[in-house]
Parts: sequence; structure tokens; C-alpha cells
Amino acid sequence: MKSESIKRFCIVGLGRSGMSLAEYLHTPHHMGKSGHTPTDVSQKSNRINPTDWPELDPISHTASRDFLNHPLCPSHAHQHPSSQPSESYHAPVDCVVWDDSAEKREAAESAGWSLWTQDFDWTDAVCIISPGISDHPIMQDALAHHRPVMCDIQLFHIFFPHVQKIGVTGSNGKTTTCALIHHGLKNHGRSCILAGNMGVPIFSTLENGWPTDALYILELSSYQLELCDHLNLDVSIILNLFPHHLERHGTMDRYRAIKERILNGSRIGWIPQNWPTNLNCKGNQATPVCAQTNTPVKIWSTECLQDYGLPAALSGVHNQENVAAAVAVLRSLHCTKTDVFMDFTGLEHRQEHVAQARGVRYCNDSKATNPHAVAKAIQACSNTPIFWIAGGVLQHDDLEVLDGLAERISHGFMIGQAGQRYAQWLQAHGKPAEQCQSLENAVERAHGLALLSAQNGFFPVVLLSPGCASFDQFTDFEHRGHVFKRCVLECLSKPSPHDWAGPSSFSKGPTS
Ligand code: ADP
Repeated sequence: MKSESIKRFCIVGLGRSGMSLAEYLHTPHHMGKSGHTPTDVSQKSNRINPTDWPELDPISHTASRDFLNHPLCPSHAHQHPSSQPSESYHAPVDCVVWDDSAEKREAAESAGWSLWTQDFDWTDAVCIISPGISDHPIMQDALAHHRPVMCDIQLFHIFFPHVQKIGVTGSNGKTTTCALIHHGLKNHGRSCILAGNMGVPIFSTLENGWPTDALYILELSSYQLELCDHLNLDVSIILNLFPHHLERHGTMDRYRAIKERILNGSRIGWIPQNWPTNLNCKGNQATPVCAQTNTPVKIWSTECLQDYGLPAALSGVHNQENVAAAVAVLRSLHCTKTDVFMDFTGLEHRQEHVAQARGVRYCNDSKATNPHAVAKAIQACSNTPIFWIAGGVLQHDDLEVLDGLAERISHGFMIGQAGQRYAQWLQAHGKPAEQCQSLENAVERAHGLALLSAQNGFFPVVLLSPGCASFDQFTDFEHRGHVFKRCVLECLSKPSPHDWAGPSSFSKGPTS
């Protein structure tokens, strides 16, 4: 086994995580950004000396045994003297950056960063790629030079192997579960930081270049896990697995295998019931996943919920699952209070209560970007008539999962590229659907028909649960959700075309 230093970094993709990393690498932390002396730094250091960095295999899609067995791997680190807080860090950092957008390259150059060029010397270099990029000539170049390719999360682990970390993955429910874990830990008085896929770049969480003593809760997407080898998490959990992102991962088998990477080297791993591969689990007994990682894997279930109070903001079976998953993680950390979720108010854009007026409820589920998520939203609407707004960019998902739920929908209002597809599906189930093109039109139409339904004594819901990505018409799902909420409030500010006040309570839902 050979150790080597990593002296160069090539960052591909200057989104928020790439920029945070570039800024981190360019800041002379060893001098202390805000008055820290090298001595201060050595006291709080988790950082390993670059000369001790382990050799990493390129992420060529097999586990790196060298890395796992390396003395600096966290499971071994406590035995290794050089993994103790090191002397202050003086190595110069050589970092080049790249983005396919000329505008971002220009901005990077004017901020003083060097761009990657074809003659870049890959000796002792590592390629950090934005998880949104599935393939790139620079990544291929790194692999051709036998250099590691990884994402910022893996690099963070290499820099800070001793920081306590929890990882959460799954097709749906990641952000909600991470928020629940965060909430639960705070209510146990634990200091923790949320980071990862929910939009907080991991390198943006550092204070003066160093992690705080907080426990990190990492939301990990399959795109990120594909670029990680061993994260050696303290607790890892897989929530569920539905067909998603198959345009990138190819098959369900490959998608599943990528999700399972979260378990590599974890002190304890949790998987859902009916996980498709045999990970050699027996009931709730800890059994090693495999000899190589020796990770004990347990199955989480909703049985624990009988002891827990559930907040009103979390409706639906799927949210019970999210709470149960959060409980599994909390218990792994010996946090056992059972009333810790009661004041959880829910998250914006996830079945968010927007308003209730004139007998109609308005629900923003803009984050539902696949049909499985829509199914959960429809199921959570109990028996009310649903005026459903859907459409956008369909991501190779099929709509079969919704078949048994079509009868719950009163009327569909379709938007964006996949509007036609959803309209056809609804009509095939004998339900009316109209093409509204824009979200503004859809909200106005849905609002009008829902008011009529309310007049007839029902308590309908206008539900935005698009089952699609948003980028044909919006910047992202948050933008889509904000437009929905604005349109709802505009509709409600106009006098009702149907002169009826109805049972009315107007309330704004949680916004964070
Ligand atoms: P993610 O971060 O994985 O995209 P979120 O917590 O943001 O998941 O929830 C996105 C949507 O997925 C929600 O609006 C809801 O419709 C659906 N959802 C949430 N939790 C689950 C779950 N456990 N199983 C299935 N669908 C879920």
C-alpha cells in the first residue's frame, strides 16, 4: 500500500459547491482568516497533512480496498499517530478550475483562478467534479492519467475523517428526513449542521477553514454517491428506492448499487424493509454487509412510531416513514427522547399548506418531481376531491404507480413539456384533463373549478404535485413553488366569481 500526497486540484463545474471548494482551497487557512494563528488551528485541526493523504483509486466504479485499508481511513485512524491533530497546514494549494459556461470561466479568471488547460499536469492531482455532470472530457482525462475523480463530499471526508457524519439517501424523502434528524438532534441539545444535496455545499459550512464540533447531517443524492468511494459515515440510512434518474444510471440495478455505496465503511447502516438485494440482514440484528467493509446493517421500520408523537404538519404514510427513519438514526446516536418532532413545522414545497379559503385548500408540493412522490401526495389528501396541477419535464419515469390513484383526481390541469403525457394518462382513466401551458393559467382554472366544487359541499384541494422536473419553465422547483404560491394568493385576493363565502379560514403555511 502506497501513500502519496495530493498537491493539485482540478475543479470541474463552478456551481455553488465547486465555488465553495475553490474558495476554501484558495484561502490560506493556515494563516487564519480571522486572526487565528497556526497554534489556534493546530488545536482544532482534524485536517490530515497532505503528505499523509491516502492513495485513492479513480472512482472507476469498484470499491477502493487501498483506501479502506489505509491507516488514515477513519476506522483505522485512531490507531495511527499521524491522524492526530497535525501541525499547522502550510502546503501551497495548486488548484485549477473549469466550467463549460464561458461566462463562469471569465468570472473565475477575473477572480484570480487559473483555468484548466490541456497541458495540465495530473501528477499528484485529484479531479473534483460537480455531481450534476455525468461525464466530461476533463474527467476522462483524469481517469486516463489514473487520477481519482470524486465529489466535494468525498474530499471533505478525506480532509476531515474524524468529523462525525450521518448520511441519508433514497429516491424520495431525503430532505424531509434530514430536516427531521436535524430537528430531533437539536431537541436533544446536540449541535449539528445540515449539508449536501439540499443546497448547502459542504465546504461552505466551515468556520475559518475548519469544521465546527457539530455533527454533520449529509443529504446524499445518487449523483453524489456515484462520485464517492468510502464515506465511512457514523450512521448511514437508505430510505427507499423508486425508478428515478435512470436516464443517467441506466438500470435499476446500477441505481441501487450506487445507493448502497452510502453503507461503505459506515459504523452502522440502515436499509428499508424489502430492500431488493440480499445484504445478509436478519431481522433487526446487526449483520455485516460484507467482510470488506464490516458494516453492520439493520432494517428500519415504522414499528417504533407507537412511542413517538407525530406533528400535524406531517401528513401521509410517507411522512411516517420519514419520521421512522429519523428515529432509527437518532437511536443509533443514543438520542431516545420521544417528543422531539412535535414542533416540526414541515418544509417549504413539500406538501406545504399554502392557504385555505372559501372551502378550498391549496397545497404546494412542487418538490414532487417523480410520479412516486405524486402518489404519496395524492394518498395524503385523504378523501377530498383533488384539482391536480402536473407537468414539466418527465424524467423517464413511467406513470404506472399512479394507476390505482386516478379515481381520486377530479380534474387535471397540465403544464409544460409533459403536460400532454399526463393529460393522456388521466383521460385514459376517464378523468378530465386540460392543457393550461402555464402555471398561472393552471392555478386560475383549478381555483375556479375547486370553488364550484366547494359550493357543492365538498372540501376540495388544489394540489401542485407536478411529477416532473421544472427546468422547461422555471429555474428550479423552488421557483415553481413560489410562482404557485403567488398565483394562489392573487386568485384569493380577487372577488369570488361565485358569490359564496363558504367555510373559510385563510392561513399561510410554513415557509421554511
Ligand atoms: P427528496 O429530498 O428525496 O427529493 P423531499 O423530502 O424533498 O425528498 O420530498 C420530496 C417529495 O417526495 C415530497 O413532496 C413528497 O411528495 C415525496 N416524499 C417525501 N417523503 C417520501 C417518502 N418517504 N416516500 C415517498 N415519497 C416521499
